[in-house]
Amino acid sequence: MSHPLTAKLNPEQAAAVELPLEHALILAGAGSGKTSVLTTRIAWLLSTGQCSPAGLLSVTFTNKAAKEMLMRITAMMPLNPRGLWIGTFHGLCNRMLRLHWRDAGLPETFAILDSAEQLSLIKRILKALNIDDEKYPAKVVQQYINGHKENGRRAGDTDAWDDYSRMLRLIYEEYEKQCQREGVADFSELLLRCYELLSKNESLREHYQSRFRHILVDEFQDTNKLQYAWLKLLAGQNNALFAVGDDDQSIYAFRGANVGNMHDFQSDFSVKHVIRLEQNYRSQGNILDAANAVISNNQNRLGKELWTSEPAGEPIRVFEAATDFEEAAFIVEEAQTLMREGTAANDIAILYRANAQSRVIEHALFTAGVPYRVYGGLRFFERQEIKHALAYLRLIANPGDDNALLRVINFPTRGIGARTIESIQETAQHSGTTLWQAACSGAAGRGAAAVRKFAEIIETMRSQATGLAMPELVDMMLDLSGLRAHYQADKEGEERLANLGELINAATNFVQEDENNLIAFLSHASLEAGDHQAGAHEEALQLMTVHASKGLEFHAVFLCGLEEGLFPHDNSMNDARAVEEERRLMYVAITRARRRLYITLAQSRMLHGQTRYAVASRFMQEIPQQLLKFLNRGYAPQGYSGPATVASKIKAPTPEHGLAIGTNVEHPKFGQGVVTDHEGGANGNVQVNFATAGSKWLAVAYAKLKVI
Ligand code: ATP
Ligand code: MG
Repeated sequence: MSHPLTAKLNPEQAAAVELPLEHALILAGAGSGKTSVLTTRIAWLLSTGQCSPAGLLSVTFTNKAAKEMLMRITAMMPLNPRGLWIGTFHGLCNRMLRLHWRDAGLPETFAILDSAEQLSLIKRILKALNIDDEKYPAKVVQQYINGHKENGRRAGDTDAWDDYSRMLRLIYEEYEKQCQREGVADFSELLLRCYELLSKNESLREHYQSRFRHILVDEFQDTNKLQYAWLKLLAGQNNALFAVGDDDQSIYAFRGANVGNMHDFQSDFSVKHVIRLEQNYRSQGNILDAANAVISNNQNRLGKELWTSEPAGEPIRVFEAATDFEEAAFIVEEAQTLMREGTAANDIAILYRANAQSRVIEHALFTAGVPYRVYGGLRFFERQEIKHALAYLRLIANPGDDNALLRVINFPTRGIGARTIESIQETAQHSGTTLWQAACSGAAGRGAAAVRKFAEIIETMRSQATGLAMPELVDMMLDLSGLRAHYQADKEGEERLANLGELINAATNFVQEDENNLIAFLSHASLEAGDHQAGAHEEALQLMTVHASKGLEFHAVFLCGLEEGLFPHDNSMNDARAVEEERRLMYVAITRARRRLYITLAQSRMLHGQTRYAVASRFMQEIPQQLLKFLNRGYAPQGYSGPATVASKIKAPTPEHGLAIGTNVEHPKFGQGVVTDHEGGANGNVQVNFATAGSKWLAVAYAKLKVI
């Protein structure tokens, strides 16, 4: 008799769920139920009493995926999610470091540096050391440091063979010292520090090894060397490591992810159980066929073919816009139609390759009044006013946080000039202290009184903070810092004020769902960066990069910007391996959709301040053309002979929109042209031959054509 939890699973899935307490690898394609198997195994282990909630640790890649995992488990059995160690690598390491900060050599209140803050710290170090930032660009240094950390190497462990690499090592050393002085940790540090904690501290390691008998890892193909080493430490000799993954979905090589871990795992742990799942339960036939076709262009695959018992379903809809604005307008309109027809907003995703693409789409959604949420896009906590507010909160937690201090020492302006700040920095550097200590030791010169005033404000905040609930604490800080008054006085500060109000709401939610603890709240703000949004609980369209969409699924997916140079990305064009990674990304994107998939592209778009003109992505050519439906036929696939000639169409009746063949029109971007063909009624398309831009198919509803 099968267990009720596995009754709905297929035999391979059920076998995977009920494997004995031994290492196992589930290797399977997208939508084949890997995460379902993993979560069902957790519920099964708990409900059969083989394991207590405290006895397992489960890890995945994004906060959203971790939340989904918790939701799936609690839907199967009632549980208090707080006691469970389920989260992202960063989240779990942070949790461990908070518990053992002393052993880890960190201050109790250590703050987490996000990537932008890390970069500005590096810039400060370059400046302090008088290093030419053209020769050693901060970004390069950042990659160097993170790259080493992700491979488990401290500055002292790195090789240096010439002046250039010796200098990089020196900067890394200085960076380590500075982080320690300020009591801050960057993202990679969380992992490295936690790894070192466990590897050096035998009793702690033994404690966790005997506690976590089951370690379950989702998206195993994207673990990097350090994460794998961390897992190995935790697993020890006796625990069962249950890993699920898909080599075709490995999309983080650029951050050090190592698909080789799947091989290493099998040999390092002598894995006896390798289970493959081949039935896809997520997507309808056409979508799955498209995904299979695209990924089959990659070499070096472990080789899996997915099938579905679902019908072919709808074709994949393709829309080619003239501009990114038109693309956004199309998406918004189409999404609104879907919602009107009953699709929940949460079940519609808009996916893009680059974060920068979201701006135009967000603007269109905002203007149309459609609620949306951006994931991982650092939207809320990245805003200037929120960063200022968080900097004050960080100073309350730890005034030694130099980054935070520099951000707000003179914001709102209080008469502390650049010269005064430099002199504080010099004092700090000479005496090897934090800026806070240097500032308190009495700044000289004209700014001295203002610096004293600033120090007093921080001290007052710190003393008033004790015993306050988080939302009150935020409120108090907004007053004492002068931030609230500053934005009230600012004519255009209304939206910023509203966001600061939203920060109080975020604190309220946090206290309700988590705990009343400033440090925990700040870690949450750093680790969950973009995931908070006004009205977080309301139904909203889901916006995210393809990277962030891994593991998720939606009824309808808009995949936009399918242009050469954007997807595949420019950086990857000359490197076959990098193009393969882009193709895996495409495979991930396609397989997010259950029933409906839109692919959109724009002939021109503004990106990073420049207008780019691009041709359709090669990945579109890789989808069998019979699976595609061209909504406006602007994009002509290879071998497509084009519309019938003008001569044969000239007798066609005038369409409802009045743009008959031969009409002279003007387009805001392409200039003047002549209508040469049309199709599909009032909301259909017209083909225009432009004097300079050539012939294009445009959607009448979006193209803003003017008859001239
Ligand atoms: P990805 O590779 O994208 O992470 P996955 O392999 O983790 O995908 P899941 O997310 O677990 O796949 O499952 C995909 C969908 O299929 C989910 O909606 C899940 O509920 C459903 N599903 C999984 N197994 C079955 C099954 N045996 N019967 C019906 N539906 C299933
Ligand atoms: Mg999954």
